[in-house]
Amino acid sequence: MDENILHCDANNFYASVEMAKDPSLVGKNLAVCGDPEKRHGIILAKSEGAKRLGVKTGQTIREAKQYCPDLVLLPPDFSSYVKYSKALYSLYTSYTDRVESFGLDECWLDVSGSHKLFGSSEHIAEELRRRAREELGITISVGVSFTKVFAKLGSDYKKPDAQTVISHENYRNIAWPLPVEDILMVGAGSLAFFHSVGIRTIGDLAQADENLLSSRLGKMGSTLHAWANGLEDSPVKLYYETRKPESVGNGSTAEKDLTTREECARLITALSERVATRLRRHDTLACGVHLAVKSNAMTTRGKQMRVEVPTASATDIKNHALRLLDDLWKQGASLPVRALTVTAIYLIGADDYVPTSLFVDEITAGKNTRLEKSIDKIRDKYGYDVIRRGNLPKGTDEEADEETKPFKRQ
Ligand SMILES: [Mg+2]
Repeated sequence: MDENILHCDANNFYASVEMAKDPSLVGKNLAVCGDPEKRHGIILAKSEGAKRLGVKTGQTIREAKQYCPDLVLLPPDFSSYVKYSKALYSLYTSYTDRVESFGLDECWLDVSGSHKLFGSSEHIAEELRRRAREELGITISVGVSFTKVFAKLGSDYKKPDAQTVISHENYRNIAWPLPVEDILMVGAGSLAFFHSVGIRTIGDLAQADENLLSSRLGKMGSTLHAWANGLEDSPVKLYYETRKPESVGNGSTAEKDLTTREECARLITALSERVATRLRRHDTLACGVHLAVKSNAMTTRGKQMRVEVPTASATDIKNHALRLLDDLWKQGASLPVRALTVTAIYLIGADDYVPTSLFVDEITAGKNTRLEKSIDKIRDKYGYDVIRRGNLPKGTDEEADEETKPFKRQ
């Protein structure tokens, strides 16, 4: 048996985390969504029960309530989703170091080197499901197969808390009858083409003329054809090669002690720019910000906050850090300041974040991130200092060469 690839997918992840955090929600129809007070909120995630009643991701709250009047609405809590995701990944990596992330709640495992210690692939899948359920209160479904594409189909095949083996013997019976859009990477464009030539199922795709596919879809046509036939040998990457940093921080000791809020704000602006640039380089968004302030008496105080809208914008990070600075002063931190460190925490992949509403705030945050992405491109080409905000101090900002945890630099 060479079904050594597992695809694990946490079921209704955001809603499940909310229930794991607060067991009184178990059994209720639940949705995670934008702020209902602002009326523009949309559904980001829903529980199994709500799903059965017709609640869908992307619906407005109003629509969802029509399907499910007793729907319990909760705002997203990304920092908790990051924490639970981390716990899931540490469970997975205790069985193999080949764990390739596909977002907060999905990944592939290659367990070909794990059988002596942990048993068959199916046994490992059972163990993972049991332990995720018992230790974290999260259910996962698992696909077990000989390719990544089929393993992913398998995790989707039966859920929640189920597992499906797609083997050399049964893939024609299990994978082939599924709609062709279930296969990874089939977007709206290729789907329209498939339908126009009568390809409706994965089996149709597998048996289609490869030349026809590649004449219209190029290399992707041949790739999809191969995937549908179970011909795929892309390896599951090593966890440490693909994981995103947990936090990104930048600290700097001022040349001269900072004696006013304005001087602190200028340094925070510079540090936030570096942090935001590196967040975007890693394709991540911060769900929290931490600020550490070291006084000239060498005492360090730190404070962190969660942000409402995940961001990779320097402007947003600076504004959050300034709020933290003011809070720290209220709590007794004092001038003059020797050093400051701004750290983006609770990071999620940019792809993991879907806007939860049509809030103006949220759109603005997206705009900041997009604007700053184009600045990154210019800096990649001509050097970091080619673009500087008018009021930045020169020569005092430094970039940490590795991902830093809060306080590591102190
Ligand atoms: Mg999932």
